[in-house]
Amino acid sequence: MVARLIMLGTGSAFPTHSYNSCFIIKSDHFTLLADAGGGNGIFERLERAGIAPAELTHFVISHAHTDHILGAVWIVRARINLVKSGKTLPPLHIYANEPTVSALIEICRLTFLDSYFSMIKDVTDIHVINPPSQIVVGNATVDFFDVMSENVKQLGFRLTFTDGRSIVSLGDEALTQQNREAAKNTDYLICGAFCRYADRDIFHPYEKHHLTVKDVAKTAQRCDIKHLILYHSEDSTIEKQEKYAHEASAYFSGKVTIPADLDIIDL
Ligand SMILES: [Zn+2]
Repeated sequence: MVARLIMLGTGSAFPTHSYNSCFIIKSDHFTLLADAGGGNGIFERLERAGIAPAELTHFVISHAHTDHILGAVWIVRARINLVKSGKTLPPLHIYANEPTVSALIEICRLTFLDSYFSMIKDVTDIHVINPPSQIVVGNATVDFFDVMSENVKQLGFRLTFTDGRSIVSLGDEALTQQNREAAKNTDYLICGAFCRYADRDIFHPYEKHHLTVKDVAKTAQRCDIKHLILYHSEDSTIEKQEKYAHEASAYFSGKVTIPADLDIIDL
């Protein structure tokens, strides 16, 4: 096994049966967190996944929306608490675009005690990413790109292990005509799909700048993607996994996973 994908949260911005979308890619060489949801519920998710905040080595924040960045404030705060309590920690490498880094720092400035705020530089190594750019993370390379969202400036990435296997994340954006080039030819694609096309009149995905399972599956079929992982969806549909997968499989011939919170996918 090369690595594991741990889905901490799979819900969209207003989930009631799940946590906001975020996940961990864990290998023998790194523990990378992608987004942190909308609050300190991230600690409960990490605990249930068996990951301590101190274990995190890299952290990518896709964009500055509430349901992705507010948990990041708590991750920074937790690292400060750990260091204050005498633990020695290497700085957490944080990667985000400029508006997201600015938002994170500003929220921390407004909500932390001065003595905590002044320690951010001691517990993090914040990298402002202006895509396209590449970094090396343990036994993988990470290529950042702009997901071409119409909604917000958002950072996507392709993580490629030394054996060539790759995983692409589009943040909470769907696979679209605008970003399909960046997502082509990958083993795993993680992206947003707000609801089934069949339920579009119930959940109004298009009004929220989101797409449906059918929309994403149709595009994925033409992009040489082996395994499609759909999240950031409404969470009120009963037996969602089965229903979503059924709609996706009508348009996409590869493997489809509709994860629930805390599901683990071996990469
Ligand atoms: Zn979102």
